[in-house]
Amino acid sequence: MPQETVYAIASGKGGVGKTTTTVNLGTALAQAGEQVAIVDADLGMANLAGFVSLSPGSATLHDVLSGEASIEDATYRLAANIVGVPSGNELADYAETEPDGLGEVVETLRDRVDYVLIDVGAGVSHESVLPLGLADAVVLVATPEPAAVQDVSRTIELVDRVDGEVAGLLVTRTHPSGDVSPETIAEKLGVAELGSIPEDRAVRASVYAGTPLVVHAPESDAAVAYREFATTLTGVESAGPSADDAAADDSSTADSEDTASHGDVSSAITDAEPDA
Ligand code: ADP
Ligand code: MG
Repeated sequence: MPQETVYAIASGKGGVGKTTTTVNLGTALAQAGEQVAIVDADLGMANLAGFVSLSPGSATLHDVLSGEASIEDATYRLAANIVGVPSGNELADYAETEPDGLGEVVETLRDRVDYVLIDVGAGVSHESVLPLGLADAVVLVATPEPAAVQDVSRTIELVDRVDGEVAGLLVTRTHPSGDVSPETIAEKLGVAELGSIPEDRAVRASVYAGTPLVVHAPESDAAVAYREFATTLTGVESAGPSADDAAADDSSTADSEDTASHGDVSSAITDAEPDA
């Protein structure tokens, strides 16, 4: 299939909205009926689990990478059509992690879902650079601040270094006036513009609620922008919450959005696979 399956969500620095983007892109695609796996590969600053109210009962990506658990053990169903692989946030876990195994994790998931989204740590360390080459394409995330542009150009160099592909740039936390336009920033960097997400108070509220924005406040400006971005990136039309309801009706599993069930990647994935 020529379609891109694995996306790395990357940025030059932290705090620009990578995790927000991973969670909401994934949820928008799941609402549209696509099978999605989101992977927290920000091994040093893992926080994806909190964004979706996931408290991993046992295994995390760290355990998989250190050979102590299988990928199935560390895969948790988040909602209809979407599973998550959280990272541990113990510093000790981190030190024992062997990031090279991430390639195997990604290839395993690639065979089982329509989209794999990897939330990548900022910076130039091995575990941040590795996923850029594992992905079919890299989504660059930056805020409109001038410094962010410079950070992103460094990330583009890293993508080149590992023979990766840049999908384009998503500009987050934009303000209606005063900022340099996303088009101008993307043009300066020589990459495609994938969209922009406005600064929106609903984003923070959704993090506190532990619910993806596109579910928590589906009509908010940022949620609408995230659905548009999902369509620009993948071609998948996400109609939002009503599509989610329809998808949930199709599914035999009754998932509640606030309790993530453990360890059922195979069943979670098989449920949804049309030709299983
Ligand atoms: P990263 O993963 O790049 O470190 P996060 O996704 O954790 O970034 O976002 C960092 C902070 O910025 C979070 O508190 C989040 O709620 C906030 N944030 C992200 N995007 C927006 C937005 N569009 N509007 C308002 N706040 C946002
Ligand atoms: Mg993050």
